[in-house]
Amino acid sequence: MNVLVVAAHPDDELLGAGGTIAAHADRGDSVTALILCEGVSVRYRQERKAEVAAQSRRAATILGVTDLIVKDLPDQRLDTLPISQVAAHVEEVVKQRQPAVVYTHFGGDLNRDHRIVAEAVLIATRPYAAPSVREILMFETPSATEWGSAQLLPAFQPTVFVDISATIERKIEAFLCYSAEVADPPHPRSVEALRARARYWGSQFNRPMAEAFAMVRSLR
Ligand SMILES: [Zn+2]
Repeated sequence: MNVLVVAAHPDDELLGAGGTIAAHADRGDSVTALILCEGVSVRYRQERKAEVAAQSRRAATILGVTDLIVKDLPDQRLDTLPISQVAAHVEEVVKQRQPAVVYTHFGGDLNRDHRIVAEAVLIATRPYAAPSVREILMFETPSATEWGSAQLLPAFQPTVFVDISATIERKIEAFLCYSAEVADPPHPRSVEALRARARYWGSQFNRPMAEAFAMVRSLR
């Protein structure tokens, strides 16, 4: 089965779905990760670009990602582009890889790039345009999803849970590749908080660790 993960920034791809990506890889699924923004223009200085790219490759290898595609769209400035331009990058990859399952950002994140990527994915995976796509799921991004207040944006209400008890350690190991993004606890982007979040979602199903997703649609 072909799986596509579409994220705005380097490390987003694994914060919400890293354990699930590794579980897909373990099952023999082919996983393509598409990261749309270079991730250097705001959060990092330009000279760190090669370093971040190397970190993304290391993280992808740990998770078992088959193909990592990194585009050069402007970090924290996706709203300066027409949505059709963002969607075109996703459409190109959907056409090439013919994914059955697509994961992307939750559409109510505080981070505007995340919301734009979510919209671009829904445009690129319209049923008539992308008949291979049978399921679309939205992942949370610690520090972007829970900070998007329900007074302003829809709240994250997960409907699909993936048991990641066997893959949580690979998720953590992949996250540690992005050394500049690893915060001290209790920050949501700390190792401790990532484990606590997985434990919380897992506890709802009496499993040690889980990741949670909001289902957009599913064709069975
Ligand atoms: Zn992000």
